[in-house]
Amino acid sequence: MAQPPDPDDARPLAPATRAARALGASDEAVGGVVPAIHPSTPYRRDRSGTYPGGHSYARDQSPSFDAPEALLADLEGGAEALLFASGMAAATTVFETLPNGAHVVIPEQMYWTVRGWLAHLESKGRLRVSRWPGTHPARLETLLQPDEPTLVWIETPSNPMTVVTDIAATVEVARRFGARTVADGTLATPALCQPLSLGVDWVMHSATKQLNGHADVLAGALVCATPDAAWEAVRYERGYRGAVLGPFEAWLLLRGMRTLYLRVRASCEGAQRVAEALQDHPALAEVLYPGLPEHPGHAIAARQMQGGFGPLVSLRLREGAAAARALPSRLRCFADASSLGGVESQVEYRAAVEGADSPVPDDLVRLSIGIEDPDDLVDDLRTALDGAA
Ligand code: PLP
Repeated sequence: MAQPPDPDDARPLAPATRAARALGASDEAVGGVVPAIHPSTPYRRDRSGTYPGGHSYARDQSPSFDAPEALLADLEGGAEALLFASGMAAATTVFETLPNGAHVVIPEQMYWTVRGWLAHLESKGRLRVSRWPGTHPARLETLLQPDEPTLVWIETPSNPMTVVTDIAATVEVARRFGARTVADGTLATPALCQPLSLGVDWVMHSATKQLNGHADVLAGALVCATPDAAWEAVRYERGYRGAVLGPFEAWLLLRGMRTLYLRVRASCEGAQRVAEALQDHPALAEVLYPGLPEHPGHAIAARQMQGGFGPLVSLRLREGAAAARALPSRLRCFADASSLGGVESQVEYRAAVEGADSPVPDDLVRLSIGIEDPDDLVDDLRTALDGAA
């Protein structure tokens, strides 16, 4: 009788397939095709005092985290992932593990709340923070010192200025000085870029955004290339601080991640269309999108991202702050709201959120392109901008 094919000989499944199948996660107990939600917070010991299911208490590790963590680690090409209650919970946990006085190097343009939190830690004397443009990694050399505990934070493309950082070149400089590197991969997601394959130590995500993709879960994640003592410190912090997801949110996140590749592809196509269609609009001073050949980071983004340049397009209004502030209310297909990466397109006048000390110009409007028909989005934006020109 012919032998069934050895599963190890089979062609590896593509990431989109692995995501759609959630790596085969299912409800073994009843044969359910989708995994169950596990609401229990404590888990029983057996007579020997150990935990047969491998879980003790949901603050340390809930069984509801297992499938989404395994899928995210797989898609990032990492060894392990840990879920958190939000992207900020994931990011602040990284900083919490650093020794007092450690040096953190951040890009000038980055997600404003992480930047603000680091300024807060700096003002307390907890960490030393240096800033660099995020471009031209050789410039990092003047900031780094060997023998100083240092973390280099990367965010590419950055929110909302779409600055592109050359991940591999940044890691090369950081490594020479013994610095750890962490990349905020929120805007790219593993569907477009895998920073671990470019040498980064850890990837951080606001899973609230495209990983979940439906604007109905707050979640964050860290993924490591190699578990080491520093990664164990992250796990320790998570278990003690308890900034973790509830089981239903973890289940929704897994459901969202199954369609990640489909949604990211549609959003990238829409964003590219919108950026190209608006590029020469007379009401705009600039369209910021790494998919445009004119974008200063385009060549690097094209090299380190595959299949698109993300959902975020920023517009700078020629008429300045007042015109930018007025734009969101003129749009009918964009929710005027403070997030990105959902199936529905969103718009936001950033200066109103980020405040006066933000490096983001006050004429900037951020768009997050969803999965709608791009023609509708382009028409909507053109109509609103024609009125503003
Ligand atoms: N990083 C980036 C790039 C973000 O855009 C956000 C949120 O918008 C965060 C981190 C923080 O994530 P969360 O809102 O899930 O705490």
